[in-house]
Amino acid sequence: MKYSCPDPKCPSRDLHGPDSEHIIRFGTFFRKSDSRHIDRFRCQVCKGTFSRSSFLPNYHQKARRITQPLNELLCSGVSQRRAAMLLGVARTTISRRVRYLAEKGRRRNERHLHYLERHPAMELQIDDLETHEHTKCKPLSVSLVVQAKTRKILGFRVSRMPAKGRLSKIALEKYGPRPDERKAGWANLLSSVKAYVSPSATITSDDNPNYPKVVRRCFPDATHVTVKGGRGAITGQGELKKLKFDPIFSLNHTCAMLRANLNRLFRRTWCTTKTIQGLINHLTIYVAFHNRRLTKFDPDFEPAVSPATAIAAS
Ligand SMILES: [Zn+2]
Repeated sequence: MKYSCPDPKCPSRDLHGPDSEHIIRFGTFFRKSDSRHIDRFRCQVCKGTFSRSSFLPNYHQKARRITQPLNELLCSGVSQRRAAMLLGVARTTISRRVRYLAEKGRRRNERHLHYLERHPAMELQIDDLETHEHTKCKPLSVSLVVQAKTRKILGFRVSRMPAKGRLSKIALEKYGPRPDERKAGWANLLSSVKAYVSPSATITSDDNPNYPKVVRRCFPDATHVTVKGGRGAITGQGELKKLKFDPIFSLNHTCAMLRANLNRLFRRTWCTTKTIQGLINHLTIYVAFHNRRLTKFDPDFEPAVSPATAIAAS
């Protein structure tokens, strides 16, 4: 593999042609954080040294061994504080690594969507799940699009919404008016997955009066089926319905999995979302884990094809 000097100010960057003869091997070094010997290279023009990891997003990471277990813990109902205790690192390290994992998850989710470009989804289920940031007076709605049968999550959006019922008065007094972003969230979510869904797909949702308009606008040729929302099977299990046959089972099952696997979404949890971005990051990490490890492997899936390669191939 040919490298070029990573220093943006290096004069070698102006050299013409693909040759990188000014880059030579320059021994190895032992990386303590994952006990590996890493090759070092040197640029003969500026005499600067670098390694393969200088170009990677995990460059300069110190606690490399925690990345994989942290990913699994975050998707298995462990809080960030407890993960810090179990892995023996500082809480700051965890919160930084969560951002790194979220970025990694986002790229993985993009690759999954890219695969669907060639195999568009025929059956979708959409619905919302409620949670809150900091206090129940500030509720959030997580809109989800799930592929029926495979239960793969195609996308989600987090929208703010005003408090309902008994809390609405207290919330208004304490925190002022709160915008309702749900409609914009649905429109945004549906248009973001539009390229990966067949135009004649079947979209199933519950009988929320706002869905038909949004669905018709994004998917004019799709069949929209609405079903009546049933009662929860057990108290506190809002998602798994008491119906003999649940038409949006894939979605309700996925929501139940989110409630079981993300500590902040547990029912009656004392672990809360502090910021919307934190919730988005956590959901991104979970979606990647869910699509890859918790749902059945799709035999047609061809991973890691970059958009450039796909365009060249077609
Ligand atoms: Zn250089």
